[in-house]
Amino acid sequence: MDSYDFDKLRAALPLPELMQRLGLGEHAKQAAFCPFHKNTATPSFSVYQKESGRAYWKCHSTCGGGDEVDLLEKYLGLSKPEALKRWEELAGGAVHLKPVSSYPMQRTPVPALTREPVAMPSDLHAGTPAELETVARLRGVDFWAVATMRQNGVLQFGTVCGLPCWIVSDPAKRIAEARRMDGLLFPAFEGGTARKAHTLKGSAKSRPVGLMLPGKLHDCFHNVLLVEGSGDFVAGYHFAMERGQNWLPVAMLGASTLIHPEALPLLRGKRVKIVPHADEAGGAGALKWAEELERIGCEVSGFDLTGLRKSDGSNVKDLNDCTDIHPDDATELEGLLK
Ligand SMILES: [Zn+2]
Repeated sequence: MDSYDFDKLRAALPLPELMQRLGLGEHAKQAAFCPFHKNTATPSFSVYQKESGRAYWKCHSTCGGGDEVDLLEKYLGLSKPEALKRWEELAGGAVHLKPVSSYPMQRTPVPALTREPVAMPSDLHAGTPAELETVARLRGVDFWAVATMRQNGVLQFGTVCGLPCWIVSDPAKRIAEARRMDGLLFPAFEGGTARKAHTLKGSAKSRPVGLMLPGKLHDCFHNVLLVEGSGDFVAGYHFAMERGQNWLPVAMLGASTLIHPEALPLLRGKRVKIVPHADEAGGAGALKWAEELERIGCEVSGFDLTGLRKSDGSNVKDLNDCTDIHPDDATELEGLLK
């Protein structure tokens, strides 16, 4: 733990900035409502500065107070070593923040996005009907699922690694993953193995895809279907289009990462159903996400794909496999969007 350079961390991401990053910017002032306990009558929370120039927080009720590490521990439910690690991670991404020794307490909010956007292909485009048709056929999903993704700005097309690809990304271009239009694998390079998806350089794996929609439409969705990977993201749209009332498909593009703190405020208070891949990594990822989401007041449930079969009798591995469900298992799948 003593490998941490606190002065450096504090210079890169001091308390007020950290709170902005966590979506707590409105609380980063001398008199605010406490983010930890419910009380809409009295502002009992304050962020203040000591003579050293360092900022601290305090709840004048019973939630306690402290520095950046104490806040991360309390807000994200982390241990001290975990909180330190998270602070370092967050500070590492904060390359544009000026190191200054003292911060005024009331600042205009800093932009939440602190990394350069992903470099998208130069021929990036929204997708022709023929391209949408190809993806729908390739993934075995309804055309309108794919067309809705295009409309929502989460599905685009372009050339990646010299190959025509479909690309899922968030509107802010913090993460993007490409897959080949011909359904084949990307060839192995530099000793790696061939892979079905290619993550574009600069992507932040902890950013969920699909959570932000144009025109703040995401505010209208009370139910989130949280899936893993671009393939299941498309399948999520398929099932949401087919029978979903008010379900928003959202994808994490890897099971091994936590959800980025900046994304958490958008999920706060929503009902989230997690559909992990039917494997160990998927299950472990789902448990971590569930913990994070419960902490911010989400009603979290899971949908276990284990035991479901495809029409050919083989085991379902992910949500995309469910587009080809065995007739005897179809009723079980009815519970997906309930
Ligand atoms: Zn409090």
